[in-house]
Amino acid sequence: YNKARSSTTSASFALGLPGAVHGKVVTRFPPEPSGYLHIGHAKAAMLNYFFGKEMYGGKFIVRFDDTNPTKERDEFEQTILEDLEMLGIRGDVITHTSDWFEKLYEYAVEIIKRGKAYCDDTEQVDMRAQRMDGIASKRRDASIEENLARFAEMTKGTTEGKRWCLRAKISVDDPNKAMRDPVIYRCNDMPHHRTGDKWKVYPIYDFACPIVDALEGVTHALRTNEYRDRNPQYQWMLDALGLRKVEVWDFSRLNFVFTLLSKRKLHWFVDQNLVRGWDDPRFPTVRGVRRRGMTVEAIKQYMLLQGPSQSTVALEWDSIWAINKKVIDPIAPRLWAIAKDKAVKVTITNGPKSETKTLPLHKKNPDVGTKQTLFSSTIFVEQEDALSFEDNEEITLMDWGNAFVRKKSVDASGVVTALEMELFLEGDFKKTKKKITWLAQTDFAPVRLLDYDYLITKKSLEENDSLGDFVTPTTEFVVDALTDANVTALKKGDIMQFERKGYYIYDGERDGARDFICIPDGRAASIASK
Ligand code: ATP
Ligand code: MG
Ligand code: MG
Repeated sequence: YNKARSSTTSASFALGLPGAVHGKVVTRFPPEPSGYLHIGHAKAAMLNYFFGKEMYGGKFIVRFDDTNPTKERDEFEQTILEDLEMLGIRGDVITHTSDWFEKLYEYAVEIIKRGKAYCDDTEQVDMRAQRMDGIASKRRDASIEENLARFAEMTKGTTEGKRWCLRAKISVDDPNKAMRDPVIYRCNDMPHHRTGDKWKVYPIYDFACPIVDALEGVTHALRTNEYRDRNPQYQWMLDALGLRKVEVWDFSRLNFVFTLLSKRKLHWFVDQNLVRGWDDPRFPTVRGVRRRGMTVEAIKQYMLLQGPSQSTVALEWDSIWAINKKVIDPIAPRLWAIAKDKAVKVTITNGPKSETKTLPLHKKNPDVGTKQTLFSSTIFVEQEDALSFEDNEEITLMDWGNAFVRKKSVDASGVVTALEMELFLEGDFKKTKKKITWLAQTDFAPVRLLDYDYLITKKSLEENDSLGDFVTPTTEFVVDALTDANVTALKKGDIMQFERKGYYIYDGERDGARDFICIPDGRAASIASK
């Protein structure tokens, strides 16, 4: 991480944040507690954390943006904090927009008193059309007294009050449509997960966010550039209420091909049972990608490389997985596996009776430790390898030595059913073309190798696409496999490599078999696109 940090600091972040003073910068990450964190949220959280803490030695706030009781739940606050922790991110303080409901309410009254907001009962569709066409609402010039009375009615949540909303009086026809009198308060009957029934009116994000940023001392509000049109509106709110200026700094929203980064759409997949939960390895949630074998280190390096880029194109997954591969390759223990229905029995005519040797788990990194490998006169090799052997070919059995293929039994369909080999340990492994993985012991708990495809069939879904039309029919691929007994030493979440197959993460035992999830390594072919 430190390496990534110093290189990115000097390159992408050379300009830093405007007006930043070391030790005085305050940033925040404002998730809505309405789902689990996804990889896009990880970018926002990491950039805010990086600038606030690591680059400027200031303060970092985690703020639950809980202004919409319809979608929010306590459960999600807990899991969001856990996910942040998993990413190595901790807020100096944890706050809630709802901590400020009283203050926000006072500011709503104040902004009405200043003649800068009015209550409106225009139907939603009409309001949208009027905003589009730059037409003023008939309520726009109501008196301050009328507006205060209507807002009081809204506050009580009466039938009459619920017909109204509060709008900022900014402009009727500003070319920037975000400036056309946005709604800033509305009624909601649902109990709030923290304030219960206390409130019937709730501030809209566009109103709450700048005010709470100012009140909490945020110096730099980092947010995604899809809000850029709303930046003037953000500053307008602060000016209208005479609040302290906050610097807005935007970065691009993260998008990946064939991937949904929207809590609403991810909810849909969970509800349709198309995944097993929010931590499904097919999910772009922090939990999902971690379970698929993505390291925190790789996520950090990747997000800091993205840094202040303004491009919003959908990115390929390959580059983040390639970074991940560089992180795991030097430390992933090497073990062997053979697809179960493809294992070919080999009799070694001059083989040892049975003998165990201690071998390194990683040939280039002794720190990874050692494994026990069993040698015996009966071993198994992969069908594909067996098929390729020529008569009397000299091959290399990895970690053992050379051997001649003396006999190859093939059935009518062309499948190799058995092999006979003769060890030739004085042979030179540099001279053989084939270095073969093999197994002498297969009599323990079976193993499943799991690989996954993208959940959707379209690179980038458009706004009007119906999700149901683009669901990939089969997204999980399972291969039963045999491995050596060293897998029994692995703990859930351990990352390793099955040599000549790929990197895997041990996902624990299910129905008496050990599950290993394939970790994409950034080469397109390895991403389950079979
Ligand atoms: P979603 O629709 O996925 O839930 P959101 O923006 O509505 O996204 P929030 O919980 O409000 O979800 O997001 C918290 C923060 O994370 C916001 O500051 C938001 O801008 C940022 N964020 C959300 N999605 C992305 C993304 N794909 N890339 C970068 N930042 C993101
Ligand atoms: Mg949001
Ligand atoms: Mg959203």
